[in-house]
Amino acid sequence: MSQFENLVQSQKEMFRAGKTMTYTYRIHQLQKLQEMLNRYEPRIYESLHKDLNKSTYEVLTTEFGFLQQEINYTIKYLREWMQPKKVKTPASHKGAKSLIYKQPYGVTLIISPWNYPLHLAIAPLIGAIAAGNTAIIKPSELTPYTSDLIEEMIKETFEEKYITVVQGGPEISQELLDQSLDYIFFTGSVPVGKIVMEKASKQLIPITLELGGKSPCIVDRDAKVEYAARRIVWGKFVNAGQTCVAPDYLLVHESIKEKLLNQIKTEIEKMYGSNPLQSGEYTKIVNDTHFDRLSQYLNEGHISVGGETDRTNRLINPTLIEQLDWDSKIMQDEIFGPLLPVMTFNELEEVYDHVEQSRNPLALYYFSENEKNQEWIVRNISFGGGCINDTMMHLGNNQLPFGGIGTSGIGKYHGKYSFETFTHEKSVLKQTTAFDLAFRYPNSKMGRKILKKLLK
Ligand code: NAD
Repeated sequence: MSQFENLVQSQKEMFRAGKTMTYTYRIHQLQKLQEMLNRYEPRIYESLHKDLNKSTYEVLTTEFGFLQQEINYTIKYLREWMQPKKVKTPASHKGAKSLIYKQPYGVTLIISPWNYPLHLAIAPLIGAIAAGNTAIIKPSELTPYTSDLIEEMIKETFEEKYITVVQGGPEISQELLDQSLDYIFFTGSVPVGKIVMEKASKQLIPITLELGGKSPCIVDRDAKVEYAARRIVWGKFVNAGQTCVAPDYLLVHESIKEKLLNQIKTEIEKMYGSNPLQSGEYTKIVNDTHFDRLSQYLNEGHISVGGETDRTNRLINPTLIEQLDWDSKIMQDEIFGPLLPVMTFNELEEVYDHVEQSRNPLALYYFSENEKNQEWIVRNISFGGGCINDTMMHLGNNQLPFGGIGTSGIGKYHGKYSFETFTHEKSVLKQTTAFDLAFRYPNSKMGRKILKKLLK
């Protein structure tokens, strides 16, 4: 018997008791979650600094602030989202009413990664609470200070039978995946996503997979270079490039390459100083394995900016790498670090071929003033989501669903989409008992004639 059977059973009982169904209960829990984050704010900054050397600015903008916005928005609209939705009923069903009820799944499992360890554990939880589910959170083992803090905060705020944290690595994660769960929300890498999907398929448990991939950043000949450079540097080097939607590589029009790279160099210095390694404000690489993996890439191509590393503190300066082949290692894997390969193109059609090689990127960024070309890119290339003339900002708008396509993931969340993700839309037809239409039954006299008419 698994150590988690009792836990899942107690959450199932809690769910069946119906407490999580009411609007009042859900709002109260969201408020408790918000108060919890506020109460622990200083310790949140402290633990993220210990795990990843994240600066206060980065924690505020990408972790703490994001969650606050998401909770406020959910509290504001929850009542509206929870209402059963009345929809039209065809004439063939005269007398009946059709409704879509918003049904929570039950016991949900949230598995999260290390790169935004608080954000990526709590953002799905907001959706799970709002939709009326219970939740088990399995945070990453690679950010122990933040994962311990998440456990402590959740334990102090919620009953175990409602929301709890289970810590551990792949084995614990897999044991949890074998439980009789009602929904799985996974954020992490593509290979582990496949394991999660396989496990879920054994019990046909519905899932969301928020995965990664190689997100291209394309800069065309007519782009406003100064803005492009600034926005690329921000998107690529925040969290030292350890962001699922960071621009993975640069694909720049040959004619503006030199101008863009010079401007990128200037922007790096403006944002991080001449040697970020020594600034004390620059995010570190999560562990030695990832540091060594990234360091290997520095042996490929020609480094035109950065390249300095500090193994003791696991820091790598923002780096640009040129003269690479498309089949070099760095162009095959998701980089997930502060290294930006620079590739070039001459015709927009070439972009399509290159991007298609890395299949369904999670994000795509295109810099150009030409609206026709912007439309061409958006309509012809498959990607999860992205920006025109910016990087990563689509994430900060909770009106936009966030998620991948194909190899970059299945499903979406943020804002209302988080509520929908953790909700089953249950279709119900309420039939009248005031009369009974005979034409629907076999052998009715006028049946065929009426049906033919209705089908027109
Ligand atoms: P990961 O897949 O190694 O780990 C994610 C979670 O899965 C962790 O909690 C880990 O303990 C668990 N896990 C690891 N191996 C497992 C196994 N064999 N079986 C079951 N569970 C296992 O990912 P990571 O290294 O923590 O995060 C980096 C990856 O996550 C990158 O690929 C990145 O693109 C992706 N990511 C995606 C998003 C998104 O929103 N789409 C956000 C952040 C990160």
